[in-house]
Amino acid sequence: MSGNFSLLPADIWHERLFNGAWVPSPLSPLNVIEPATGSALGRIGMADASIVAASSQAARLAQAKWFGLPYDERALVLRKAAQIAESHFEEIVGWIVRESGSVQAKAAFEASLCIKALHESSGLPSRSQGELLPSTAGRLSIARRRPLGVIGVISPFNFPLYLAIRAVAPALALGNSVVLKPDPRTTVCGGFAIARIFELAGLPEGVLHVLPGGAEAGAALVSDPNVAMIQFTGSTGAGRKVGEAAGRHLKKVSLELGGKNSLIVLDDADLDIALRNATWGVYLHQGQICMSTGRLLVQRGIYERFVTRLVDKARSLTVGNPANGEVALGPLINAQQRDHAHRIVQEAVKAGAKLETGGSFEGLFFQPTVLTGVQQHNPAFHEEIFGPVAVVVPFDTDEEAVSLANDTDYGLSAGIISKDVGRALQLGEQLRTGLLHINDQTVNDEVVNPFGGVGASGNGTSIGGAANWEEFTQWQWLTLKADAPAYPL
Ligand code: NAD
Repeated sequence: MSGNFSLLPADIWHERLFNGAWVPSPLSPLNVIEPATGSALGRIGMADASIVAASSQAARLAQAKWFGLPYDERALVLRKAAQIAESHFEEIVGWIVRESGSVQAKAAFEASLCIKALHESSGLPSRSQGELLPSTAGRLSIARRRPLGVIGVISPFNFPLYLAIRAVAPALALGNSVVLKPDPRTTVCGGFAIARIFELAGLPEGVLHVLPGGAEAGAALVSDPNVAMIQFTGSTGAGRKVGEAAGRHLKKVSLELGGKNSLIVLDDADLDIALRNATWGVYLHQGQICMSTGRLLVQRGIYERFVTRLVDKARSLTVGNPANGEVALGPLINAQQRDHAHRIVQEAVKAGAKLETGGSFEGLFFQPTVLTGVQQHNPAFHEEIFGPVAVVVPFDTDEEAVSLANDTDYGLSAGIISKDVGRALQLGEQLRTGLLHINDQTVNDEVVNPFGGVGASGNGTSIGGAANWEEFTQWQWLTLKADAPAYPL
């Protein structure tokens, strides 16, 4: 596969959507806005409820044939998809940078996660699909995993490619068809790239649909009778609505939602290392990550030195257009997100916090910010900011650190930095989170791990690695006898 041709030439997707073919939409197209410059990178075709319904029906028809293919043919499509993504790596990274405002390093990391997810998924079709159960003599009793049918995937803007493909790839590999509704702000890198990768990999027409649209299109997908399951990644507010609607329609639903994640720095930590972890966890992708470090809990003995150095560090971080070269922070996704972060910083100060640095913005470029003196009644302590804001809180004892970290409805990720691994583990065991990192910050994903949160961060599902079998298949009990028995009635 040569990387010489373009994966995403505008003439293929301009004012179109993907239902197995690239078709124009009758709705008004939407501009693809580059957050760093405000300029339009193209226009996408939008989907409404009737388009969602037609795609869901077509996906249902296509699914049986797709699952009926020999398992190694399905695996081959996934392997080819990985190769295509590899050979268009730079182009994909370029789109993530320009369309989502990612810095280069984050975009490259995201593209490599996407490739890894495709490779990992290509191994799923050839694995054992179930188990042989004990039964009465002469009866073969099998528990086997079957695809669910059509999976509706609804994805967010922040890791647009990976958070879509982490569901799309294993769902397809396990014999489902997929209707993907990416976030309308990141449809090219988070949707059309996936459509093109699979189109070029030879995925049969109709097995994957990519329908740009907003909440209404998402809601139509959730209520569609042809869709068996919804895999949703996004905010807790929208996730609740999706969960309620899925429950009403008796649909399996996987909800990967928001977080308010603590990084706990114990007083025996190497200060330099702790600062590097904090800086990464708080400021990577401008803080727009579900696993971003939303609270820095720092033990009193090193608190003052930690704050001084964090403020210096925050002031030294470069902010600018990531398409023009290496910067530490790019723009926030849009004015709404920027105003949300700004509002929380202002409310935090009103509620008694001290603004050590930052707090202001120019266009969508928000200065790296540090807040101290944030008490538990402060909105900055509880709300997910989704902006580059460090919320630093001191603590005295390990018990206090546990109680501060657990004082949230969310439960996605936590990190603890300490030279005493035993102490850190003992503390970590008491935290209510789906992801726990001893001697690492809160933002981590390796594709092969189960990923999910507790409390308001999800509904108890996980995605990734072995969890994908639970996520994208359903058990069937199959029995087989040579002859039907003569029952006594
Ligand atoms: P969002 O909830 O506004 O949007 C996410 C997706 O849901 C978009 O595609 C949107 O169009 C769609 N949507 C919105 N309302 C809907 C509805 N009523 N019915 C169906 N679909 C609907 O989230 P966002 O602002 O784009 O993303 C940021 C949020 O996502 C943060 O809270 C972040 O923590 C969370 N997130 C979670 C994870 C995770 O894996 N746990 C990963 C990334 C982001």
